[in-house]
Amino acid sequence: MRRLRRTKIVATLGPASSNRTVIARLFEVGADIFRINMSHTPHDKMRDLVGAIRAVETEYNRPIGILVDLQGPKLRVGGFGGGAAVLVKDAVFTFDTDSAPGDATRVQLPHAEIFAGVEPGHTMLLDDGKIRLVAIETNKARIVARVEVGGKLSDRKGVSLPDSTLPFSALTPKDRSDLEAALDAGIDWVGLSFIQRPEDIADAKKVTRGRAAVMAKIEKPQAVYRLDEIMDVTDAVMVARGDLGVEMPLEKVPGIQKLITRNARRAGKPVVVATQMLESMITSPVPTRAEVSDVATAIFDGADAIMLSAESAAGQYPVEAVATMNRIAEEVESEDTYHSIMQTQHPTPEATGADAIAAAARQIAETLDLSAIICWTSSGVTGLRVARERPQVPIVAISPNLNTGRKLSVVWGVHCVVAEDAHDQDDMVERACRIAFKDGFVKAGRRVIIVAGLPLGTPGATNMVRIAFVGADAAKEE
Ligand code: PGA
Ligand code: MN
Repeated sequence: MRRLRRTKIVATLGPASSNRTVIARLFEVGADIFRINMSHTPHDKMRDLVGAIRAVETEYNRPIGILVDLQGPKLRVGGFGGGAAVLVKDAVFTFDTDSAPGDATRVQLPHAEIFAGVEPGHTMLLDDGKIRLVAIETNKARIVARVEVGGKLSDRKGVSLPDSTLPFSALTPKDRSDLEAALDAGIDWVGLSFIQRPEDIADAKKVTRGRAAVMAKIEKPQAVYRLDEIMDVTDAVMVARGDLGVEMPLEKVPGIQKLITRNARRAGKPVVVATQMLESMITSPVPTRAEVSDVATAIFDGADAIMLSAESAAGQYPVEAVATMNRIAEEVESEDTYHSIMQTQHPTPEATGADAIAAAARQIAETLDLSAIICWTSSGVTGLRVARERPQVPIVAISPNLNTGRKLSVVWGVHCVVAEDAHDQDDMVERACRIAFKDGFVKAGRRVIIVAGLPLGTPGATNMVRIAFVGADAAKEE
């Protein structure tokens, strides 16, 4: 089975999509990679979901990616006497370390690290930014603040501190335990929430040790300011517009989305655009015009993947939401405008063999109107570098590693097939043609271009291009 679009779809699983039948349905209509959100998923449920996804993968014989999203250091206030208190504009309100129930004058902040990072003048946002305060006096155990926008604050609501860099590791004890469980379950990608520094990614990589790839969620201004350094060390990024829109003015989010997408494409690292893409489809079988336009914008920007959150996890129309994204992507990508945008935004190849070959393969394939670029890739690097070219012809990646196939599920345009490594060059060419033929990427009588590193199996040694004619014998079974 093959997709008729290049942009990938990430579907979050949840109560609306937690059994194998629904997961299979979501895969059929377009989901390429599934996301499990550890903020809402206990370990045994996570393992069930992984098992169900793997069963679907076997059933369809296509590699499917699994992204486990860690909760990260999500900050919350403590509890109140009556479950809530009303904060009044211009009143003085204190955050402290006392676990006694709060009232209209104070509440506990059960995170000692906050007190070290907040300074007078810093903004404090509560409950997704609905309530705003500014700190006026701070010490190791107290923050006295003035209410700028008041409202009713209930127990355990979230706290955002857009101005303060906090001495937190991006991995809380819960994240560490969730991550170990997820690695044991054999997941492919791990999402890191609320990262602030490149060190946060390095910390996570010390735990993953190559067992899963790391996706940095850009959802704090601190991460936006250090985007280049973060891009250097992460394997992928997510434009996490939900929290980004709480921590920064909403009108800044579109520009940041473009900035992150462009930087990721230049780096050749996958970028996922997330949150509220088809929000109205949580309760409606059709999206709004604005949502369709938003999804299209991410596609026109050349994002690797677009993501569904509550739409597929908890909404009434999870299948329709995935199918809608699929339809938008197919349509947008079939337009000439899309191809001309991909051409003009084309990043310069870096001075490596892989990039030189990837750029040459695209050029040759487009000049000669070849049917596909087929790359043999063990680690996935060749596949990534070819995808960075955003070629107009389809990309088929062949890898002997199932893990590589799963990881590439989030990468723009890459159709990955897991197959035994080739024995020699003739075998490599012949099997590449046969696989591309079988999956519907080339017809007999047409030509493809094959990219590989020789000797085969040496990661990063991309050094070969070969144009091959696909004969009628490509149809014969292996
Ligand atoms: P979340 O992250 O869904 O885990 O909050 C995505 C976002 O903030 O946009
Ligand atoms: Mn978030």
